[in-house]
Amino acid sequence: MPLGAHLTMSKGLPAAARLAASIGADTFGFHTRNPRGGARRVISAEEIAEWRALRQELGLAAPVGHLPYTINLGSERDIWEFGVRVVGEDLQRCAAFGAHAIVLHPGHAVDAEAGLARVGEGVKRALEAAGNGETLLCLEGMAGQTGELGAEPGQLARIIREAGEPPRLGVCLDTCHLFAAGWDIRTHEGIDRMLAAFGDAVGRGRIQVLHLNDSRFPLGSHRDRHARLGQGEIGEEGLRAVRAHPFLRGLPTILETPVDDYPDYAGEIAVARRLGGEG
Ligand SMILES: [Zn+2]
Ligand SMILES: [Zn+2]
Repeated sequence: MPLGAHLTMSKGLPAAARLAASIGADTFGFHTRNPRGGARRVISAEEIAEWRALRQELGLAAPVGHLPYTINLGSERDIWEFGVRVVGEDLQRCAAFGAHAIVLHPGHAVDAEAGLARVGEGVKRALEAAGNGETLLCLEGMAGQTGELGAEPGQLARIIREAGEPPRLGVCLDTCHLFAAGWDIRTHEGIDRMLAAFGDAVGRGRIQVLHLNDSRFPLGSHRDRHARLGQGEIGEEGLRAVRAHPFLRGLPTILETPVDDYPDYAGEIAVARRLGGEG
C-alpha cells in the first residue's frame, strides 16, 4: 500500500523521487503540468531512464498525477476541446514514465445532465487519443460545491457509462471530499456504507486511488478545504478508521494536506503511518 504526498516534478522526475524518499514516502503525487494554466514540461528519454533506475534503487511505487484545475470537460466548445487535448496528451506523457494514474476533477456545469454527458464524451475522446498505455485516468469524487459534477457515485457511474466503460477509466476517492459530501467515514461501518454506494455505482475495482486529507469544514458542508491530518473535522480517530480499513489501505494513497513546504510532508507521512499502525 504505497503512501506518498503531493510533490512537484517541475525539477524533474529524479528530483521528485529523491524528495519522496527523503520524507519517508514510497510514492508521490504531482501536477501533470502547470495546475492553473496549460504549460507542460517536456520529459526527455534521458530523464525517464534516470528516473526508472532511481525508482528501482529507492523502491518507489508508481506515482499518481493530477490534471490542471482549469480543465472543465463539463463545458462546451473551446474549453471542452482544450480539456480533451490536455487529458489525452498528459495520459500519453505520464504513461511514458509509468505513472499509476492521473486524476481529473470531472468538471462543472449549470445543467448537470448535459454536463455529465459532455464529460463522458470528453473522457472517451481523450482515452482514444492517448492510444495504448497502462496509466489510468481517474475521476475524482468531489465535495459537491454548487455546479460541481461528480460528488455523487451515480454521477461518476453516468460519466463512465457515457464514456463506454473503458478499462483505463478509474475513480479517485478523497477523504476530505467524501466527508464534505456527507459520507461519515470516521468509522469502519461508515466507510463500508460509503464503499457500498460507490462500489454498487461504479464497481469497486474501478476505485484505484485514495487522496488522504483531513477536512477544515464539518460533515456535509460541501466545502472543499483540506486540513492537516488530525487537525480537521475528520480528526485522528476518524483517520485511524480510514487507515485501518482493509480496502482503503490497499489503495495507492496520496496526501494533499496544506503544508508550507514539501519537506514538511515528512511529519504528515509519519502521522499517516502511525494512524495506520505502522512504525
Ligand atoms: Zn483533486
Ligand atoms: Zn484530492
